[in-house]
Amino acid sequence: MNFLSNRVEKLAESETLAMARLGNELKEKGVNVINMSIGEPDFATPDFVKLAAKEAIDKNFSYYTPVPGYKDLLEAISHKFKRDNNLNYKPSQIVASTGAKHSIINVVMATVNPGDEVILPAPYWVSYSEMVMLNEGVVVTMETDIKSDFKITPAQLEKAITPKTKMFLFSNPCNPTGTMYTEKELRALAEVFKKNPHVLIVSDEIYEHISFEGKMFSIGSIPEIADRTVTVNGLSKGFAMTGWRLGYIGAPEAVAKACVKIQGQFTSGANSITQKAAIVALKADPAVVKPMQEAFLRRRDLLISLMKEVPHTTINNPGGAFYLFPEISHYFGKRHGENVINNAKDLCMYLLNQGHVALTPGGAFGAPNYIRLSYATSEDIIRDAVARIKKALSELQ
Ligand code: PMP
Ligand code: GLU
Repeated sequence: MNFLSNRVEKLAESETLAMARLGNELKEKGVNVINMSIGEPDFATPDFVKLAAKEAIDKNFSYYTPVPGYKDLLEAISHKFKRDNNLNYKPSQIVASTGAKHSIINVVMATVNPGDEVILPAPYWVSYSEMVMLNEGVVVTMETDIKSDFKITPAQLEKAITPKTKMFLFSNPCNPTGTMYTEKELRALAEVFKKNPHVLIVSDEIYEHISFEGKMFSIGSIPEIADRTVTVNGLSKGFAMTGWRLGYIGAPEAVAKACVKIQGQFTSGANSITQKAAIVALKADPAVVKPMQEAFLRRRDLLISLMKEVPHTTINNPGGAFYLFPEISHYFGKRHGENVINNAKDLCMYLLNQGHVALTPGGAFGAPNYIRLSYATSEDIIRDAVARIKKALSELQ
């Protein structure tokens, strides 16, 4: 008897998590695997944040929390949005959730009806498309490529919007490409949104603190579209708190309230200890995360210089996040003995089994000619990984 719903049968497993799992399985068998599949900072959570969590435990913050989050957390987020991003979300427009992933599914469930179109500039983060499909929305991808640094143009956007468009969802800085839009580029896109008031804009800014080129600009700070922009952020990346699970949104009040309704039925409020820790993290001077940002920049530069030496791969110069997304289609059709590489997934499996480096195939991000390397790891490991990749690729014929 198959008890599974059609909904879950259609759902793909998260490819980032799947590749990390395969890497770990090989590791458990005693193989020395380098895991550059999952996007997870290797740093420890800052001590002052850990201290706040310990205090919260001792002060017995052990009860259910208000569904949108503690009042002082919502105030801290509202203040952070204004201070760092020039965004004007009142505490009543903010909802804290169990990770940004949870925030995004809340928003999708709260707004997307079956048949509604959701525009995703490709490459897009792996879970966006599955979340939309889970909700019976229609994914409309906008193709970009490495030549234009994976950026969409206003003309392209104009063409993609139809009367059925409900949402435009993107990450900036972008996972998987590291692409970061400038203020000027976002203002140009906003001109198109101004003409299309039926489109809700969802800007996922979880990599805000990991940005290297120019100042981070939030599209929701443009007054004419502010009242229909949802800004997503969280603690996972910037504060190295992936396991703590805290994400949040600033949203139009009706959307925020709808997310609270959904969350109230599904998970209730986010973890109490994490919320208390998040308050001190968000209130701190953003300069506290600068050392991590600087380390990511050094790693990016190292990885770029090493990857330039890997034949038949093309890379961009990512302005943020901690991913490199090389074009690798030259290797399709090549073989290693009996093993034929037909696509990026085959190449990733080959690099895992032959080179012992776990990476993520681009197809999961809507870009089948690419693979993703996460460089949230030490410089020594990055050197070792690229040497392994180079050697394994050189053995393909
Ligand atoms: N958005 C993007 C673009 C991501 O890369 C991730 C991965 N962590 C998330 C959202 C989800 O983050 P969280 O850990 O807060 O759920
Ligand atoms: N967002 C990270 C990634 O893209 C973590 C894994 C996940 O949540 O999918 O690798």
